[in-house]
Amino acid sequence: MIVVKFGGTSVGDAEAIERAASIVLTKRERHPIVVVSAMAGVTNALLAIAEQSARGQLIGAIRSVEGLRERHMQEAERLLGDTEECAELCGEMSAMIDELAHLTEALNTLGDVTPRSLDAIASYGEQLSSQLVVAAFRRCGLPAEHVDARDVMITDDAFTRAEPNVDAISEASQRLLAPLARDGRIPVLGGFIGSTTRHLTTTLGRGGSDYSAALIGAALQTEAIEIWTDVDGMLTADPRVVDGARLLERVGFDEASELASFGAKVLHPMAIYPAVRVGIPVYVLNSRRPEGKGTLITFEAPRRPVTAIAGKSGVTLIRLRTPRMLLTEGFMRTTFDVFHRHRASVDVVATSEVSVSLTIDDASRLDALLPDLRELGDVSIERSRGIVAVVGADLSAGGEHMARALRALSDTPVHMLSLSATGINLTMVVDGEHVAPVMRRLHEEFFGDGALSS
Ligand code: ADP
Ligand code: ASP
Ligand code: MG
Repeated sequence: MIVVKFGGTSVGDAEAIERAASIVLTKRERHPIVVVSAMAGVTNALLAIAEQSARGQLIGAIRSVEGLRERHMQEAERLLGDTEECAELCGEMSAMIDELAHLTEALNTLGDVTPRSLDAIASYGEQLSSQLVVAAFRRCGLPAEHVDARDVMITDDAFTRAEPNVDAISEASQRLLAPLARDGRIPVLGGFIGSTTRHLTTTLGRGGSDYSAALIGAALQTEAIEIWTDVDGMLTADPRVVDGARLLERVGFDEASELASFGAKVLHPMAIYPAVRVGIPVYVLNSRRPEGKGTLITFEAPRRPVTAIAGKSGVTLIRLRTPRMLLTEGFMRTTFDVFHRHRASVDVVATSEVSVSLTIDDASRLDALLPDLRELGDVSIERSRGIVAVVGADLSAGGEHMARALRALSDTPVHMLSLSATGINLTMVVDGEHVAPVMRRLHEEFFGDGALSS
């Protein structure tokens, strides 16, 4: 068995879905299980609908709901023509969109949006796309069977970033997916969405379809997990930011996770972990160019001093200063305990004898955690920062690559600098607007025409 996951652009319209079908057709012998994202842009539209309706802009929100109805119906008609299957599918999708419209109205009445209602609304993207893909695959001669992801992806109730329950997922995958796949049928389910044991809809966080695919792959010990997307694989940098980014044919799991965590959105940061644990190879491939080699992510991969450059903005830098920290045992534990209690995940850390600086991605917990942090010392907050990461197997060896990275920063103000313990990642916190230019300079330094190492 293999898991084949298609991202938003790879199921973004009728042509893309047909391309996905022809990819799956070539994999039939390998007993594929298909995981799909919402059509490109749909999750963003759904989250905007929730916010809009809760803010009282019901007319605008309902207009967007109708826009989603039209888009899904139109692609269904392009895929299936004027057929009975099309009428049936459109009936099902329309019923879902009616439910979505009711939910939207309810949020408007309540005037408030909770993480639980956000997940309920966000889940419609994958609910719709998975039904559409099943009908299209059948039309192309594939024996596709829809499976409700919420029966498989069992999670806790941390809405908007739910934690998967690996044992329950494993049991459900064995029960609901494996028999279909073994029987030559093709289970198709939405990624990203799940449900609690009390049947409340949850999501795994943005980009979570990769994570769904990896969890299912790990649960069923599949031969491989294929992540089909809109670029040739993992590249030396985000091609939307850096011209001339090059394909990495092979990347180590550790490097791939660092890159994903620091902005290489091509893979969800958690997606690799379930696969690493059980040694399943993960491929990243381009659904527009299925003949390409893509990137193979494995435990063992060739080591290069510098593998790639990643970056992200929208980062919050927190500085905590306290003379009390001087020689105080347990201070770090107390500090990190605050973040742990508020479930705020810390990305980069640097310390001195009397201060600690750290960054968080998700500032939504900041207001809640600040009072606790202030009890420990003076706190300052710097929003709109960004992180640039140089990832490689042994950056610090010999000092040459570090020196080149720092030189490439030139006169850019750096607010924090950190080298990971294994020398795999040099992270720099800069102003948000400097992320892209710094990425380009570093890429030119390490991968440009005149670069020596790469
Ligand atoms: P999907 O909808 O298929 O999941 P995403 O938009 O989540 O696709 O991820 C693919 C995008 O990731 C690419 O279009 C690219 O802009 C971005 N990206 C960021 N960093 C990298 C990188 N190092 N290599 C490849 N793509 C990257
Ligand atoms: N549709 C979800 C998102 O846009 C999940 C995914 O595409 O991986 O975040
Ligand atoms: Mg993605």
